[in-house]
Amino acid sequence: MGRYAYAFGGGVADGDAGMKELLGGKGANLAEMARIGLPVPPGFTLTTEVCKEYWDGDQSYPDGFWDEVDSAVAALEATTGKKFGDAEAPLLLSCRSGAAVSMPGMMDTVLNLGLNSQVAESMIELTGNERFVWDLYRRLVNMFGDVVMGVDHEHFEEALTAMKADRGVENDTDLSAGDLKALTSQYMEIYKAHTGEEFPSDPKEQLKKSINAVYASWMVRRAVKYREINKITGLLGTAVNVQTMVYGNLGEQSGTGVAFTRDPATGEDVFYGEFLMNAQGEDVVAGIRTPLPIIQLKDIQPANHARLLEIKDILEKHYLDIQDLEFTIENGEFFMLQTRTGKRTAMAAVRIAVEMCEEGMIDRETALMRVDPDQLDQLLHPMFDPQAERNVVAQGLSASPGAAVGRAVFTADEAEEWAEKGEAVILVRSETSPEDIGGMHAAKGILTSRGGMTSHAAVVARGMGTPCVAGCGKLNVGADQATVEGTDTVIAEGDWISIDGSEGQVMLGQVETIQPTLSGNIDKLLAWADGARTLGVRTNADTPEDSERARGFGAEGIGLCRTEHMFFGEDRIPAVREMILADDEAGRREALTHLLPMQREDFEGIFTAMDGLPVTIRLLDPPLHEFLPIEEEAQQQMADRMGITIDRVREKVEMLKEFNPMLGHRGCRLGITYPEIYEMQVRAIGEASCNVQKQGVTVYPEIMIPLIGTAAELKFLRELTERVMQEVFETEGILDYLCGTMIEIPRAALTAGAVAEYADFFSFGTNDLTQMAFGYSRDDAGVFLPEYVGKKILPEDPFVSLDVEGVGMLVEAGVKGGRRTKPDLKVGICGEHGGDPASIRFCHAVGMDYVSCSPFRVPIARLAAAQSAIAGREE
Ligand code: PEP
Ligand code: MG
Repeated sequence: MGRYAYAFGGGVADGDAGMKELLGGKGANLAEMARIGLPVPPGFTLTTEVCKEYWDGDQSYPDGFWDEVDSAVAALEATTGKKFGDAEAPLLLSCRSGAAVSMPGMMDTVLNLGLNSQVAESMIELTGNERFVWDLYRRLVNMFGDVVMGVDHEHFEEALTAMKADRGVENDTDLSAGDLKALTSQYMEIYKAHTGEEFPSDPKEQLKKSINAVYASWMVRRAVKYREINKITGLLGTAVNVQTMVYGNLGEQSGTGVAFTRDPATGEDVFYGEFLMNAQGEDVVAGIRTPLPIIQLKDIQPANHARLLEIKDILEKHYLDIQDLEFTIENGEFFMLQTRTGKRTAMAAVRIAVEMCEEGMIDRETALMRVDPDQLDQLLHPMFDPQAERNVVAQGLSASPGAAVGRAVFTADEAEEWAEKGEAVILVRSETSPEDIGGMHAAKGILTSRGGMTSHAAVVARGMGTPCVAGCGKLNVGADQATVEGTDTVIAEGDWISIDGSEGQVMLGQVETIQPTLSGNIDKLLAWADGARTLGVRTNADTPEDSERARGFGAEGIGLCRTEHMFFGEDRIPAVREMILADDEAGRREALTHLLPMQREDFEGIFTAMDGLPVTIRLLDPPLHEFLPIEEEAQQQMADRMGITIDRVREKVEMLKEFNPMLGHRGCRLGITYPEIYEMQVRAIGEASCNVQKQGVTVYPEIMIPLIGTAAELKFLRELTERVMQEVFETEGILDYLCGTMIEIPRAALTAGAVAEYADFFSFGTNDLTQMAFGYSRDDAGVFLPEYVGKKILPEDPFVSLDVEGVGMLVEAGVKGGRRTKPDLKVGICGEHGGDPASIRFCHAVGMDYVSCSPFRVPIARLAAAQSAIAGREE
């Protein structure tokens, strides 16, 4: 074929699974299925490049594009022996979107293109099934009206609901041929009333406008938002798949279904699917009728059930990953409409990777690359406490696992509004649609009364890692409350509810949650990760509890213990304030003697928790005014407690006030001007180390100086450190320790060679380094950064994911400079970026020894470090 259209099916396959970027996932996989001989209705894919040209330019098409569409339709006519728009042997087509990354339901689909009144009349004769033909026709008018012409779907839905009410029936399938014919006329009227035009009877015009609508839908709000939320960037656009229609709604011998080759929620190796007889495509996923489990197909059409199982095995063996597939049975004949990599929860991702590896389908490296490190976060979320009392009021399907507690809201907009105000919410809907994407993202959990495991709510929730209970049939969901059938339970807006997405339970009130631990498959996968990675993984922790938790998650030491948090405790703050208020060094030293034993005890606790592992302790960093109260009432309390006047407090606050505290009297500058503070801290570290060592604990203390800008600063403070440690050793015995620095000021990175003279290690403080490289205040950038990202001035928030292009240059210069002076210099990172997979990849590439991150990100970092090593080897 030519440049824009790639045919598949009917013995042809212009593309293959490797062409996702050009043909979209759906198009590439349709071609692949055709290539390996699976029954795919013939069609063609129009490329994503056309979409790019359309949006890069003034929304017009490349020369020759429409001619190629015509040729592709002609080729399809030749393959099928039918003709588009012909009454004798009518060919009907579908037109669907499909980008390289699947975006469930975010863009548009139009089915049954090619119908007009002559074609309809003749099809009634050909099929002998009047009801079927009118059903197709009314769906075409509805979808074309909605998708192509922007007529609100609700208008059609209202007419349908009114018709069902008038006939006294519950399901669409209960309407007669005559009803559907009348409905088609009503739809035509609705169409005309809202567009001012007649519904187009020319099939070519229908097709052309539908193709255009699919390309245009690339930039609709919900699609853009979905890509934003899921950080999908760098795609050319969507492809358009034009395909021969096959019908699942031709009668009781027809049907349609979706399935996963393994359970996408738990990862268990069981075939997982749902179907509806006498239904067309979207009916199953739209959640309007609750579908049947796939096993029941065995009773209805055993041969097709067997065929489906056979195809499931073929697909999984072919793709070596869990597949999400869609099939249709037309009058007993089986067709595959789609296969794609199945979206799965974190729990499922881990289990599938481990089990496929153990089954010999994939190797360990592939298994490790299969799990998105960020997704592991889901497994570390709280679970319901097994001891907690559960007031279960309704039961639904366990559509996306996990515990969620929040206040009930009934619209997606409300979910977003409430969440913005800091409320935890559960979005309760009868079903969700792609319009709800923002609210679904904002909610802690999603609860629907209709729809199955493959409903929109379930698929999207699993993709987001949000707990979801779907198809909770006993729940009647209204505009601002829900009731539970057969009981007097009412869930009103704002009521607290808890949902268990693993058990499918809905409970009233806030059920207690507990923190999870690592076990089973995830432990196994992370052990494989440890075998593959070369980067060490430490944690940022400043309490024994956090240290222990991080150790449980696999931390190999502490990379940053921030000591300022220890100064805020109720028992500490009076001594800290006394020190700040002291008039001279003697007064400060006196106050510090009260802090010393407490600080020593802090370190003993942490060293004991990290027995045998290195602990990097950073000396005091924030400016002193942070320890004084700002509010008058608190100032008065402080004055009363210290027996001084409030004026004295105010005077000190005034004196310490800074215009630019982040660039002010903090970090090592404090240590240089008030050496007694750092002396106390070094002494506490030294004494604590010796004390616990005597008790049999193995300690590796690493003293870290913050905010170094020049080598001379570090020289001064290293000498201070060595002097105090020497004094401690004289009475307490000797031990090894390191003295190093944070690299968080650009000047230090650029002069790293000189700084390294006095450092045993470097730890990159990329929070400050980012702040200073960009000149963005860490505390104020929240106001404009989201807009910067929105306007694509920045690809991402540089405080979340390291700006490799700029800040990365400083880091690289720092590593190289430091190692030029000391080839074995130990180098790590302790800024927030140490837990971000993309930043970890960079840290690996520049040759760091370790990353350090918050306890809950330790497993993520272990996996990301392994992936960096594997990717590095493959390059
Ligand atoms: C940093 O600046 O990256 C860092 C870890 O220190 P803090 O966040 O405490 O300033
Ligand atoms: Mg810092």
